[in-house]
Amino acid sequence: MFGTMQDWPLLVWRIIDHAAAFHGGREVVSLTCEGPVVRSNWATVRSRARKVAAALRRMGVQPGERVATLAWNTHRHVESWYGISGMGGVAHTINPRLFEAQIAYIANHAEDRVLFFDLTMLPLVEKLAPEFATIEHYVLLTDAAHMPAASSLNLHCYEDLLAAESDDTPWTDLPETAPAGLCYTSGTTGNPKGVQYSHRSNVLHAMAACMTDTFGIGAQTAVLPIAPMFHANAWSIPYTAACAGSKLVLNGPHFDAPTLQKLIIDEGVDLALAVPTVWLSMLQHLEKTGGNLGRLNRTGIGGSAVPRSMIESFDTLHGVRVMQLWGMTEMSPLGTIGSPTPEIAAKPYDEQLSWRIKQGRGLFGVEMKIVDDAGEGLPHDGRTFGRLLVRGPWVVASYFKGDGGQVLDADGWFDTGDVATLDEHGYMHIVDRSKDVIKSGGEWISSIDLENTAVGAPGVAEAAVIGIHHPKWDERPLLLVRAKEGATPTRESVLAYLDGKIAKWWTPDDVLIVEELPHTATGKLLKTELRERYKDYRLP
Ligand code: ADP
Repeated sequence: MFGTMQDWPLLVWRIIDHAAAFHGGREVVSLTCEGPVVRSNWATVRSRARKVAAALRRMGVQPGERVATLAWNTHRHVESWYGISGMGGVAHTINPRLFEAQIAYIANHAEDRVLFFDLTMLPLVEKLAPEFATIEHYVLLTDAAHMPAASSLNLHCYEDLLAAESDDTPWTDLPETAPAGLCYTSGTTGNPKGVQYSHRSNVLHAMAACMTDTFGIGAQTAVLPIAPMFHANAWSIPYTAACAGSKLVLNGPHFDAPTLQKLIIDEGVDLALAVPTVWLSMLQHLEKTGGNLGRLNRTGIGGSAVPRSMIESFDTLHGVRVMQLWGMTEMSPLGTIGSPTPEIAAKPYDEQLSWRIKQGRGLFGVEMKIVDDAGEGLPHDGRTFGRLLVRGPWVVASYFKGDGGQVLDADGWFDTGDVATLDEHGYMHIVDRSKDVIKSGGEWISSIDLENTAVGAPGVAEAAVIGIHHPKWDERPLLLVRAKEGATPTRESVLAYLDGKIAKWWTPDDVLIVEELPHTATGKLLKTELRERYKDYRLP
């Protein structure tokens, strides 16, 4: 027996059809590599995406094959996404910040047939092209006026390709389980692994992301995903904004605080989303210039833990509410969000912060549990921590081409590699990544908590904590600090600041002031490199 409702496969092109039909005039505004701001709208995005689909068919791309992009968040990248998956292709977003060898590896591993790329990527693409074994067509995301005079590539001009097609070409009918996108994890060790999203997982994830306590966006919202489309789908905003009929604002190749601030003000952005490092620069810029953020009233921050001082600065100085997000490439990426429950909202401000620094509650569609090393479930008391496992319709079931083998346990749970607590209000708190947690005398010290407390110290711009081998305790924490421009924090001043804010036995055995800290391609502290640099370091 079946229910008697319609079978309407959840396909990504239905999202853009919806946006064009009901919100066709709503703006999609983009900064560009060429310079001028481009003002488009959802109806135009759909029409041009149809032409992308037709052009790909003409190139001989078959449903299920990969079409790569090396591009910033622009209107053309969004059109390409919808066009690729709309003709049945798989939009493979490549992170240009990866090492060159990794870019070549993943393009070959994915067997990409076509590469769409931005003007700023031309030198990189020309350099790597001899190593790309499967790419037949290169599409430069620009107009005829910006095409290079000569190129060694089989190069097409995006605008010329579109001009040659009509938008009445149909979308491809597919089962909703067909692949729509592919994104590789940056992989701090070993080769990156691919996560292949389905139409169904993308659509369900986008619908959940629209909910009030998730992004809570609608036709009156203007949303700016600073999180790049090549990093975990720009947290699904190009899909979510189209579902909700929101205005979409895109920052192109620009990530500097003055340009982002101007864009937020000029376009009346209400919600902007980015990793903590982007907001750290923005807050410092605003502090220096005394500027404001226009209509911005909410930020979604994730990818790394959000320091308490960041939440407080946004609240008190700018009237902007921080919603912390946690997720991962393997989860499309959203897992939790920190919108307050009525119980938390009723608490005094200082107490609320104790929950707001947590990563938040699971979205509908995400199951979570914490387990010990034997796989036994642990209590949700906010204190006991264990390995965080997840399950749901937008969680990876296996990596692309089966890399890494079986990744789910017998009951279908995926191990996130994070260590976390869960509490009685349903909040999850990341203690650490399992490989970064510091094991001292049989107890665990959270490098994340230490870092987030240390960045509150006067003169500190950024902090990193790693475990250093210790003959008695196994490991002890070493704190590395990058100073704010013009400031001169010292070992003593930082330790004095930490005193009383952390458990005594968590106190770092040493503090070093360093010139720079290494980051991954997605802007996170690169702990593997730090551990390598300091592997022979002797604690005092
Ligand atoms: P990459 O390592 O390639 O950047 P992801 O973006 O998928 O890949 O990283 C996911 C990981 O980032 C999570 O497993 C978690 O460790 C960390 N993370 C994401 N959001 C948060 C957050 N709000 N707080 C702490 N850690 C986070």
